[in-house]
Amino acid sequence: MTFAQAQPMNQSPGASRPGILPAVRLLIVEDDTSLATGLMRALSNEGYDVAAAVNGEEALARVRSEPYDLLVLDIGLPGIDGFEVLRRLRAGGYALPVLILTARDAVDDRVRGLDLGADDYMPKPFALPELAARVRALGRRGRGQVGPRIVHGPLVLDTAARRAWLNGEPLEMAAREWSVLQVLLERVERTVSKEAIIEAVAGLSDDLSLNAIEVYVSRLRAKLEPAGIRIRTVRGFGYMLLEHHQRSAG
Ligand code: CA
Repeated sequence: MTFAQAQPMNQSPGASRPGILPAVRLLIVEDDTSLATGLMRALSNEGYDVAAAVNGEEALARVRSEPYDLLVLDIGLPGIDGFEVLRRLRAGGYALPVLILTARDAVDDRVRGLDLGADDYMPKPFALPELAARVRALGRRGRGQVGPRIVHGPLVLDTAARRAWLNGEPLEMAAREWSVLQVLLERVERTVSKEAIIEAVAGLSDDLSLNAIEVYVSRLRAKLEPAGIRIRTVRGFGYMLLEHHQRSAG
């Protein structure tokens, strides 16, 4: 019997409190069963549809077979740990918000978790109301935001979650790099003027210069060209993202 089956605390969506969207599906991954029990009770009382997994394998199996809106993921798990669960999920294209539970003072763990694609962290021990508040914030951000996705050869962008993968590995991009890339992706094989790029990126800054655009394009090239994705300079005008072709043997 799994822990989740032993502790059926799911509540009906109608039991949600004001301000909480009904039936947000939440998966808690925690091997400490007394902590997991407390979390399930607290979050069920907040109106969430809560399930639990006691190890990484079970967590991955559940996420792959059922749609969850949010994951609360302990890092210290038996077998594959929380980092590996997170890495596999992101590599597999799962963009659901993930809140990791880390040991207090374990700064390296937090940094590593965020680098691997966690959306927030909570150091142990924590007060349940604080965790509940963070889950609420993440739930609002993540709910209903699956895709739309842009696929360009080995590059995948989830525009809602603002996450990107290159050859299945998470790709880190600064906000402006992201915006520039998105403009180019919307006009593959068409020339996009620098002015049009600035216009699309506007709102992020008042002082965005033509030179700045060149810097962002150059950073994007450094990240994308090793995977065969090319941004051509159209001299005196702008840039063009070329159609991606698989490299052939011949
Ligand atoms: Ca643990």
